[in-house]
Amino acid sequence: MEVLQGKAVFSGIAIGKISILKKEESDIKRKHVENTATEIARLENAKTKGIAQLQKLYDKAVQEVGESGAAIFEVHQMMMDDDDYMDSIKNIIETEAVNAEYAVATTGDNFAAMFSSMDDDYMKARAADVKDISDRLVRILSGTDNEDMDSDDPVIVVAEDLAPSETVQMDKSKVLAFVTRLGSSNSHTAILARTMNIPALINIEFTNSMNGKTAIVDGKNGTFLVEPDEETLEKYKKLKEEELHQAEMLRSMKGKETVTKGGRPIKLYANIGGMSDVASVLQNDAGGIGLFRSEFIYLEKDNYPTEEEQFQIYKTVAQNMAGKKVIIRTLDIGADKQIDYFNMDHEENPAMGYRAIRICLDRPEIFKTQLRALFRASMYGNIAIMYPMIISVKEVLQIKEIVKEVQAELTEQGIPFKADIEQGVMIETPASVIISDLLAKEVDFFSIGTNDLTQYTLAIDRQNAKLDNIYDSHHEAILRMIQMVVDNAHKEGIWAGICGELGADTSLTEKFVQMGVDELSVSPTFILPIRKIIRDMD
Ligand code: PEP
Ligand code: MG
Repeated sequence: MEVLQGKAVFSGIAIGKISILKKEESDIKRKHVENTATEIARLENAKTKGIAQLQKLYDKAVQEVGESGAAIFEVHQMMMDDDDYMDSIKNIIETEAVNAEYAVATTGDNFAAMFSSMDDDYMKARAADVKDISDRLVRILSGTDNEDMDSDDPVIVVAEDLAPSETVQMDKSKVLAFVTRLGSSNSHTAILARTMNIPALINIEFTNSMNGKTAIVDGKNGTFLVEPDEETLEKYKKLKEEELHQAEMLRSMKGKETVTKGGRPIKLYANIGGMSDVASVLQNDAGGIGLFRSEFIYLEKDNYPTEEEQFQIYKTVAQNMAGKKVIIRTLDIGADKQIDYFNMDHEENPAMGYRAIRICLDRPEIFKTQLRALFRASMYGNIAIMYPMIISVKEVLQIKEIVKEVQAELTEQGIPFKADIEQGVMIETPASVIISDLLAKEVDFFSIGTNDLTQYTLAIDRQNAKLDNIYDSHHEAILRMIQMVVDNAHKEGIWAGICGELGADTSLTEKFVQMGVDELSVSPTFILPIRKIIRDMD
């Protein structure tokens, strides 16, 4: 048995087989080959396998997001089978006598460059698709296409690091736990693990030879036990049983109000990343959704989601929540959430860069599409909108102008919407805390994003694993800021909540309630434990 010590970012115990997530080699080697016919045969095989993989993805996507959402995988199949594309690859293999991986990557780059240079926006967007299918073929050719994730048994996913887009695309029913060498507890991947209720460890120095071996993830102590002995295995099986028992006990909190003994009600809402998380919100009996990170809709796609696609998602979530509050945050990309088709420039310091509301105000056509979808969906439930990364009143006034324009267009087109839905801002920059007295006059609520607020206040990159031990959300500066925001909100008669990860820190629940925090929005799995603490409070 090998015991590796790391850091837990979400607790819980998982027992199962390790599947090491291999990433494609970013640097594909050009190799001279003697036999080009063998390379072409390898290419043909890879194509057949690639098309079959895409068909599987299509079938899965039809189930999960419907036919229109799945259509992209059909397009990818056609592209992979396209004669021009295949001929170009074969031509490179034959004329240059090189390996298939190199020929595929070169053709992928060439085609992508050609598409990108076109005037037509639709064709431009095909650049990302051709890169995507080429990457798939290269992965198949080089044997790095993570077959284990296609097997039926759920596995412990082990990787160097995981990007939010990779995590979100995984079939959650096949993941027992996440284990990474890199990453930090405040990264979006860690947040997703919490939402998915999956134990997760970071800072684990695994080796590739561990692939396929049985292991235990101990999300309480942050340990990873590879090839455990019988005694350890038995011990952990028992602990797992206790964990399930504990969960059973918490279920008794379902259906109960979130109110202190003294009668003070607290809004206890859930954070979600997409439609598929709503089941967990309902299962854990959240009072509403306090943060729908809408950027995951954009991250899951290869091109800008249309108004109609977004409308369908917001409408479905609102309907499924049956009149409970659904606070949807407008697009918050940039920093660790990068999207190829936004074609953003490389930035030295993306967390402080072109992100979130800054992009939306700079590219109002993207913002308006989302706002139209949101206002249209407002007819189907209790939707509220919140805006991320605010630093000034001026931004709020600009947003209001754009909202007005969107509403005027909808009215003119005879499209129904609710004009007076709640609109709030995220308080996640020190500037917004300091001017929260002024912001409170302009909005209906505040939601404190402690993840970013901590990184900007303490000047500690939330993604930097090296600084994880000093990234301290309990810092007195943060707690004072929360108090200031709550007080300024109440002076103007609006409510203030916390939707950052700190909101789920059960060691602070009582303190938050005493500070006057009106709402806590947390990963669905924290709803019942926090409800219990609040109900036990005087
Ligand atoms: C936050 O910053 O606390 C927050 C909730 O937003 P995100 O984690 O998505 O940046
Ligand atoms: Mg944030």
